[in-house]
Amino acid sequence: MNQHPTLAFIGAGNMARAIIGGLISNGFPAAKIRASSPTIDRLADLKSQGLFVTTDNAEAMSSADIVVLAVKPQMLKAVLQPLAAAAARNKPLFISVAAGITSQSINKWLGGDQAIVRCMPNTPALVKMGANGLFANASVSEAQRSQAVSVLSATGLTLWVEQEEQLHAVTAVSGSAPAYYFLFMEAMIAAAEKQGLSKEVATQLTLQTARGAAEMALQSDVDPAELRRRVTSPKGTTEQAILSFQANHLDRLVEEAMQACAARSVSMA
Ligand code: NAD
Repeated sequence: MNQHPTLAFIGAGNMARAIIGGLISNGFPAAKIRASSPTIDRLADLKSQGLFVTTDNAEAMSSADIVVLAVKPQMLKAVLQPLAAAAARNKPLFISVAAGITSQSINKWLGGDQAIVRCMPNTPALVKMGANGLFANASVSEAQRSQAVSVLSATGLTLWVEQEEQLHAVTAVSGSAPAYYFLFMEAMIAAAEKQGLSKEVATQLTLQTARGAAEMALQSDVDPAELRRRVTSPKGTTEQAILSFQANHLDRLVEEAMQACAARSVSMA
């Protein structure tokens, strides 16, 4: 296979655009990317960037090395069944970002015996700060695993899980998790306003602190628990906040929330 595989995106919404944008800014040639979607108007900007665009999914997919499935989960069956003949002929690598749809279902709708990588992305992919959990079925070769990583790392971090069921835990810890942090930010901004700061000052300080804490944890060679201990002086201000969180069982709240998230993911699969 040549250096840049031909990529086809079936569905050209937010998630497809996040991946396409990342690939192009990393130097991936736009001419090797195709995108399909039912309305051509929505594809005009991608065409102007040099992509081949079409309303015909089979045309987008023909002779592609990698087919990224980026339609809503409930659309996937209807989108894939008409592509089964082309899949049997070309045997591309399929990468699905559709939440909750198993590789077994995708394989069945494509007629069987297909190489499928499932990806659980998250929305920070839109700013190239995504976290992707990946699972490969048994038909995916080592070379295809590397290709999947090079495509998806255009949106951020990529990590493999060995069991498909582990994608439920990935959903709980990263797929759905940006919203947990937004919720925490909302609560901090509201509390800071109650303590007399303007909404704008409270918001900017909250967001920069979240960014700074994440960056510091990423750059550190010790774990977050140790970083927390190091900034918590005995009898200091931070200790009072931590003791309050602990008295209110923050760890239990987080565990229950993530269990609820994973259970919902299981029930939707
Ligand atoms: P979106 O609605 O922005 O995009 C879906 C695209 O599919 C649209 O361009 C639409 O025109 C196109 N489409 C609809 N019917 C089609 C058809 N028959 N053939 C071809 N294209 C068709 O949705 P999105 O936010 O980009 O989500 C795409 C997938 O990514 C979903 O399956 C979702 O589960 C997953 N996702 C996960 C996360 C996460 O945070 N974990 C975030 C975003 C998306």
